[in-house]
Amino acid sequence: MPSWTDGAGLWTEAATLHYAGIHALDDVSVRCEPGRWTGLIGPNGAGKTTLVNALTGFAALTSGRVFLDGEDITGWSPQRRARAGLARTFQSARLFPELSVRENVEAAVLSRDGSRRAAVVEMQRILGLTGLRRVAEVRAAALPYAEQRAAGMARALGLAPRFLLLDEPAAGVDDLELAGFTALLRRIQQDSGCGVLLIEHNVDLVFDLAEEVIVLDHGAVIAHGAPADVRRDAQVHAAYLGVGGAR
Ligand code: ATP
Repeated sequence: MPSWTDGAGLWTEAATLHYAGIHALDDVSVRCEPGRWTGLIGPNGAGKTTLVNALTGFAALTSGRVFLDGEDITGWSPQRRARAGLARTFQSARLFPELSVRENVEAAVLSRDGSRRAAVVEMQRILGLTGLRRVAEVRAAALPYAEQRAAGMARALGLAPRFLLLDEPAAGVDDLELAGFTALLRRIQQDSGCGVLLIEHNVDLVFDLAEEVIVLDHGAVIAHGAPADVRRDAQVHAAYLGVGGAR
């Protein structure tokens, strides 16, 4: 295990973010390891999206720092962080609605260095991985919901990220589509090799896929460890997993 303050990884040190009286994040120090899937769970308003925003540069910390592979990236813009290997998806897919699925993925792949030929090969690989070849020429806006979510992930994968932050990828995916969607996430896990921070209210999905799990409540970390340990944690049950907690 690398020490907390150096080596490869994406991490925060005492990340604190206050919005006019709301402590969205309070002294949060968490770490995502390269190539590993880290789950991030917690009740509504716990600070999960705020943490993703702080990691990716969409929100500025009140205090504390963000590190990528030992480098302090706290002051970096979202674009600079993206170039350094951080990609994210949003709770809504945020595709170019009038472009086809292929064009959406191609735009991401072409933003990287390399030849056009290599980009086309990579785009085809990602469309295959995400099960989107069949709908490659369909306008993004015309896609069924689950495929829009898949296309959002395909676009993020097109950036060849070192770390991919998935903000509720299964939100709105119905029960009939969930098995296929879970299989898609598993294929990405086996194939992509990037580190993933997975935010999900579907905790079964998180405990299934994540190699470690972080639990936030009221902007603070209340548990961080192996899924089996977190699942047994009494404080996590009281805050989230108990009756009426997670979906
Ligand atoms: P959910 O599961 O509902 O998506 P979350 O865990 O992602 O919730 P956040 O969206 O990070 O929670 O919100 C954390 C807290 O910060 C909430 O109290 C929220 O209302 C507040 N908050 C988030 N963004 C802003 C903002 N731009 N301005 C003011 N308050 C905000």
